[in-house]
Amino acid sequence: MSDHYGDFVQSSIGKKVAKNLGLPLPVTLDRFESGENLVRGSVLVGRASGDDKSVSASVSRILSDVHADVYVNSSDDIKDTLADASIETKINTDSDDKFKVLLFDASNISNAKQLKEVYEFFHTVARRVEKSGRVIIVGRPPEKISDIDTALAQRSLEGFVKSVGKEFKRGITAQLVYVEEGAEQNLDSTLRFFTSARSAYVSGQVVRVSKGTSIEVDWTQPLGGKTMLVTGASRGIGEAIARVLAREGAHVICLDVPQQQADLQKVASEISGSVLTVDITSDDAGAEIADAAEKRGGLDAVIHNAGVTRDKTLAKMDEQKWDMVININLASIAKLNRYMLDNNVLNDDARIVCVSSISGIAGNLGQTNYATSKAGVIGLVNATAKQLEDNAKGMTINAVAPGFIETQMTEAIPFAIREAGRRMNSMSQGGLPVDVAETIAWFASPASGGLNGNTVRVCGQSLLGA
Ligand code: NAD
Repeated sequence: MSDHYGDFVQSSIGKKVAKNLGLPLPVTLDRFESGENLVRGSVLVGRASGDDKSVSASVSRILSDVHADVYVNSSDDIKDTLADASIETKINTDSDDKFKVLLFDASNISNAKQLKEVYEFFHTVARRVEKSGRVIIVGRPPEKISDIDTALAQRSLEGFVKSVGKEFKRGITAQLVYVEEGAEQNLDSTLRFFTSARSAYVSGQVVRVSKGTSIEVDWTQPLGGKTMLVTGASRGIGEAIARVLAREGAHVICLDVPQQQADLQKVASEISGSVLTVDITSDDAGAEIADAAEKRGGLDAVIHNAGVTRDKTLAKMDEQKWDMVININLASIAKLNRYMLDNNVLNDDARIVCVSSISGIAGNLGQTNYATSKAGVIGLVNATAKQLEDNAKGMTINAVAPGFIETQMTEAIPFAIREAGRRMNSMSQGGLPVDVAETIAWFASPASGGLNGNTVRVCGQSLLGA
């Protein structure tokens, strides 16, 4: 979809005009390109003082695996932990050094006073982060901490990270990863996602990594040998999801309504996937999915992407618009999940990923039906996550909540509202379907066994519901 303003400010004259008028200055975001290094620049790593080295040991192992160019501050004893992972660190002394990633292990922070160490680490390098850079803090989930001083300090990190996301601009993202004690070995897929260009339009997010079982993968094809079903795959975000999952090695069963057969067939054949035409609200949808899955040895992931909008203010909304949206966006997902779990359609360690919306978090004028359905999706994810934790088959469920994504759905929004939605975020631009797809591929990875019950917004840190 076209973003004429975004294109204009890329020109030198456009840049000048926008700067002088104080208008938003969206930059071209880094996005995944095959063959590129995971981290496209140097990483400055730090650790708050304290005895627990388990987070930084995992961080060091991951940075070593991805051959990162690592810097540390001279006073920081994290360099010993990095050395244990055979990383040769450089010392951050030259004020001309620029960093692509700032990564801080805050897991030892145990009171308000110690938050000063976060300030000290980031203050001196705040202006030295490259375009499309990454700020990542790793802490401990406050809800699992009984000591009040520690819990408040860990919770404080959220305010810091979200403010950095709003301040740094130039496509720089900021995230907080809360890792449960004993789950540090599950950080790989999350840190790889957040340090890389794959997380281009994800910012200001808080992710919880827990103790589920993560499976080792070949990082060049993390979904290799897996069968994954995507609903609504004939166009828009669903098409991008199908393409990214296939790029990562999965066989994708592309599902859409019979009316979309031609487009669906085209997508499926381009990614060597298969086609399933069925309306997800129909009575036999579960059985048809089960048949298609059985032919390929069961499903390793299902991506509930299909969704519709039928916007009207509540007073003007007829019953049919309400029923249709709730039925497609919410009730059918709950019904299909129940069917798939009861009939062993999902393999052990399967991943369920749902597509919610920031409309379900913030609410939206003219979208009582849609926002209700998308908030319900988050409720479904939270409740199912608990159930999956108990059934010991290694399955997980998570959701993405897209903000303004450039698709046919958003192209239909009236110009002024569309332009506002596009700019009112820390990236000053709309996201692309591929940004949602990359986030889903991260959740769908066998290596993401520690992610269960998360809802991550893919919204460029939209001001709506923030
Ligand atoms: P889209 O309209 O381009 O695509 C939706 C697809 O779902 C279509 O191919 C459609 O045929 C299919 N579908 C609809 N009803 C179906 C049914 N009953 N059975 C099977 N397939 C069905 O929309 P999109 O913008 O690509 O959105 C995809 C998902 O992302 C939706 O769930 C949407 O609510 C969500 N979302 C989109 C945005 C955005 O900015 N585009 C923002 C937030 C959330």
